[in-house]
Amino acid sequence: MNVSVVLFTSDLRLHDHPPLRAALDGSRTVVPLFVRDRAVDRAGFAAPNRLAFLADCLRDLDAGLRERGGRLVYRSGDLVDEVCKVVTETDADEVHMAGGVSAHAHRREERLRAALEGDGRRLHVHDEVVTALAPGAVTPASSDHFAVFTPYFRHWDRHHQRQVLGVPRVVRVPEDIGSERLPTRGELSGLSAGLATGGEREGRKLLTAWLRSGIHAYVDGHDDLAGDATSRLSPHLHFGTVSAVEVAHRARKAGGPGADAFVRQLAWRDFHHQVLAARPAASRKDLRTRNDLWRSPDAAAQEIEDWKEGRTGYPVVDAAMRQLRHEGWMHNRGRLLTASFLAKTLYVDWRVGAEHFLSLLVDGDIANNQLNWQWVAGTGTDSRPNRVLNPVVQGKRYDPEGAYVRRWVPELEGLGGAAVHEPWKLKGPERAAYDYPEPIVDLSEALARFKHARGRD
Ligand SMILES: Cc1cc2nc3c(=O)[nH]c(=O)nc-3n(C[C@H](O)[C@H](O)[C@H](O)COP(=O)(O)OP(=O)(O)OC[C@H]3O[C@@H](n4cnc5c(N)ncnc54)[C@H](O)[C@@H]3O)c2cc1C
Repeated sequence: MNVSVVLFTSDLRLHDHPPLRAALDGSRTVVPLFVRDRAVDRAGFAAPNRLAFLADCLRDLDAGLRERGGRLVYRSGDLVDEVCKVVTETDADEVHMAGGVSAHAHRREERLRAALEGDGRRLHVHDEVVTALAPGAVTPASSDHFAVFTPYFRHWDRHHQRQVLGVPRVVRVPEDIGSERLPTRGELSGLSAGLATGGEREGRKLLTAWLRSGIHAYVDGHDDLAGDATSRLSPHLHFGTVSAVEVAHRARKAGGPGADAFVRQLAWRDFHHQVLAARPAASRKDLRTRNDLWRSPDAAAQEIEDWKEGRTGYPVVDAAMRQLRHEGWMHNRGRLLTASFLAKTLYVDWRVGAEHFLSLLVDGDIANNQLNWQWVAGTGTDSRPNRVLNPVVQGKRYDPEGAYVRRWVPELEGLGGAAVHEPWKLKGPERAAYDYPEPIVDLSEALARFKHARGRD
């Protein structure tokens, strides 16, 4: 019997799935397998919001496979051990999986390859499953990766993208292969109340609706905090319930300036993946050190706590931090300005902020989270590493009517228009009517501290 194992990782879909298509070629029997990797849990990446979304994705994947005559096999433990067990139990001669970019993913792939080949079996690792373009597919003449986005995008945009693959009609799975029970979101605690639902069906619905009615307003609307006019596809791209190749392909087909701007954002995702693939240490270490002597977590403990809880006294910062806690997701403009507030205004190590984001973000991943944090902190790929976002200016520009702040900071509901961005300007009893903190830091003193730290004063 020709049996192939398809190991699903960050690609929890049936549409446009190169490993599954390759395994099905030659009418092979397939074992669709997902392993809850204990090493990922041990490393602290198993945040409740992502586990809940993952549970939705696995159930939906299982349902999709059942509609095609198959089912998902779910195991937990050491990924390499579990794959090898399944391979032995089914006498499979090959395993197909998507290539990963993190150091952990690379190590895991190598261990798996050695274990399988030692036993006379083969591992096929497929590119362009998780990203639209594989890391390393385009490189500058003198390096193994692009360190600046604009030239990367020029090459990315011109590079041939592979065809979108159809969904298989039938998936035959060996009958006697056992599976652990699939997890459910109901058995998890500590979830954000407004957490999105996962799964391929949900992702495809969202993508279709976005292409029909959202994408055309993206150029003007993507930075409007209250308008909430971005695709919200990030968790689906993170878990691979929609394919980056297919999203880029369908967006290009939709055409127009909105689609162009949206496709450019998708390229940012690939950009960060290719940086991390080439510089795996960037998940923890400064990509470009600025010799920062960050304030110690003890000295800044209260301010860090205020930032996490959304009570810094800067309304737009607090609104965004509360959105993160409530939804497990935050608008990109919010991510930029809250990260700048922590790393530059409070001058706290970007790793403290990245860790907090990862504990809540449903789309939280090492490539995009760590490298965006580094970008904002000025230790990454930003060509203007010392720019500081002023939260009042940001609030007035990207939430001009104050509607975003009033949505997330109900204590300030009574303050109309843009006045909501500066409650400290109110005097006496008028100010006292609002149960909202005073700013925890003076912006000009903070700017001077940062400039001094970076040798710019
Ligand atoms: C400090 C900080 C941390 C971040 N952490 C993450 C993270 O952990 N995971 C994550 O997916 N994104 C992260 N981002 C990037 C970005 O904020 C989100 O991808 C975006 O807000 C998701 O919303 P959306 O799907 O509606 O985006 P849209 O505006 O609709 O964009 C479409 C897609 O393009 C990609 N994209 C857009 N902007 C970026 C960007 N700057 N970098 C990389 N990809 C991008 C995403 O996959 C997104 O889904 C972070 C940004 C910052 C500043």
